[in-house]
Amino acid sequence: MDTLAEIARVVNACTDCQLHAGRTNAVPGEGPDAAELLFIGEGPGFHEDRQGRPFVGPAGNFLEDLLQSIGMTRDQVYIANMVKCRPPDNRDPVPSEIAACSKYLDRQIELLDPLLIVTLGRFSTARFIPGQSISRVRGRLRRVNGRHVFPIMHPAAGLRRQEMRAAIEEDFAKIPGLLDVLRIQSEPASENAQVREPMAPFDAVPADRPHSLWDMLEAPEPPAAPPPPDPPAAEEPEEPNEPLPGQQRLF
Ligand code: SF4
Repeated sequence: MDTLAEIARVVNACTDCQLHAGRTNAVPGEGPDAAELLFIGEGPGFHEDRQGRPFVGPAGNFLEDLLQSIGMTRDQVYIANMVKCRPPDNRDPVPSEIAACSKYLDRQIELLDPLLIVTLGRFSTARFIPGQSISRVRGRLRRVNGRHVFPIMHPAAGLRRQEMRAAIEEDFAKIPGLLDVLRIQSEPASENAQVREPMAPFDAVPADRPHSLWDMLEAPEPPAAPPPPDPPAAEEPEEPNEPLPGQQRLF
């Protein structure tokens, strides 16, 4: 699979997991080959299955609104999912389905080589940051296996609960600044030598969160803590003070 179009052709004919049996259309993903920004959702829903396109239902409308809020449109970004066929009744994809389908997403990421990957929801976030809740890691940039990953809650969650909608909008507002930082970082050193600060800090960032875009980049791993000192050797029990022949024990 050497092109995104070829991946789509293979996906449309794929029968590598049980999800193929219930699909109307596979949903390989869509967007320009040179997209800087890759969104990864969970899997197709009812509307996506019918149209063969990602994020075209209510959650897709919200995603388009979010893109518009940062001055972008969906034809500027690539949108993909963890699994390319709809799980029945919109259930969560099971690990065997995610594993069977991961080869397509892996190859899409390789071919796109995006500047920033935005994971939408817990399934795509767990692909890069396993074992962490989305509410804990959302809104902070991570560098994972050479990729810059920015987790956000799934837009569908924002449609269900107002506080999640606010969190999604807050995190989404950081994307343009992150892209600016990453563009600067990806430039040759001679071109960005004079650059000291990226864009202005976010007004929307709450006081308890980082205010500099540089602060949002993954902090380097702290140096390994020195090993704890060896516990003091147990003192050898003193030899009993046995009186020598001819001596008398005094106490
Ligand atoms: S979900 Fe992925 S692995 Fe399963 S049938 Fe569809 S394309 Fe193939």
